Amino acid sequence: MKIHEYQARELFRQYGIPVPEDVLCHTIEEVEQAARKLNRMVVVKAQVHAGGRGKAGGVKLARTIDDAIAAGKKILGMDIKGYTVEKVLVADAVEIDKEFYVGLINDRNTKSVTLMASSEGGVEIEEVAKNSPEKIIKLSIDPLVGLLDFQARDIAMQLFGNMQHVRQAVPILKKLYKLYVETDSSLAEINPLVLTPDGQVYAIDGKMNFDDNALFRQPQILALREPDEDEKKEIAANEKGLSYIKLDGDIGCMVNGAGLAMATIDMIKLYGGSPANFLDIGGSSNPQKVIDAMTILLGDSNVKAVMINIFGGITRCDDVARGLISALNVIKTDIPIVVRLSGTNAEEGLTLLKQAGLPTVGSMSEAARQAIELSKAYVQK
Ligand code: GDP
Ligand code: MN
Repeated sequence: MKIHEYQARELFRQYGIPVPEDVLCHTIEEVEQAARKLNRMVVVKAQVHAGGRGKAGGVKLARTIDDAIAAGKKILGMDIKGYTVEKVLVADAVEIDKEFYVGLINDRNTKSVTLMASSEGGVEIEEVAKNSPEKIIKLSIDPLVGLLDFQARDIAMQLFGNMQHVRQAVPILKKLYKLYVETDSSLAEINPLVLTPDGQVYAIDGKMNFDDNALFRQPQILALREPDEDEKKEIAANEKGLSYIKLDGDIGCMVNGAGLAMATIDMIKLYGGSPANFLDIGGSSNPQKVIDAMTILLGDSNVKAVMINIFGGITRCDDVARGLISALNVIKTDIPIVVRLSGTNAEEGLTLLKQAGLPTVGSMSEAARQAIELSKAYVQK
């Protein structure tokens, strides 16, 4: 789960990480009020679940109230990487002497939380990793003892090289780690962490992600969830017992089992197609589930063909076929559908589908190839 910068800043404050004052705004009037209230140089920042807002024109410094209003007008409603900006943060701006990067992630290789820090702050860390990986300091943190003072001091010294700044940076690192662990975070970044000309250290941007599997024990974090359109669909699907993740392609996939769903996606890619989603309907042939799944797939306007790939085990293929036939009686669509059934009662299932006039194929690769061809031939009416 992702949260917005304004929410990350609030969590930082709760943990005592220094963040300049800010006000969340939904309208130009609110931007004006906020700029008057802060009464200094402010920065107007798009609040969307995307990085690189600065580069995209979604972060603007304003020295006067009129500048702030103009920035608000430009940014509210703007599109950043497919997200429409519906709110902006008006924050107290600081003078910047230098920008640093500090981040925590779960590292599967070391099986621990890794602290990353760099004197190349402000730019996306992926860029630094690509162009000058030697400028990223990494430290694996022992989960039993946490981030120790001497480790935090060592890293802060490498970044700042000045004891007065190190004294401010050490508690920031330790508090960020505490926040990360206590909230079951999977990513916590301060980028940039800045040094001002008068020697103050502030976090002026925050990004945090959380482990979805831990949200059940993190009510405070769950309450911050502001799903975008795609995530809303994913959550609705979950509530119906389906695991659904939207992707960018045009071939809808309906599959039973997560492993088979992944294999289906791989197969579509292998033959040059592009999957529209991951969808695991689980081990049930309940027609209602099939109807729900088809409704979700066909609700995605990118979908130009549907590939149904079922491996019957405990789930019986004839049940799935019946579910599918009754689902398609309810949902009328002209989008081509390819069905591959294999396993328990596949013969019976295929016969039922043929009787109902639905196209079936013999193998998974054939299903993928056909779905790709049909998607290319499909023209929306
Ligand atoms: P991002 O592009 O989405 O990561 O958004 P950031 O909040 O990190 O802002 C991008 C850049 O704008 C920063 O790296 C800074 O260079 C600049 N910026 C943001 N806030 C301030 C501020 O308060 N003062 C100054 N001088 N620059 C800022
Ligand atoms: Mn940033």
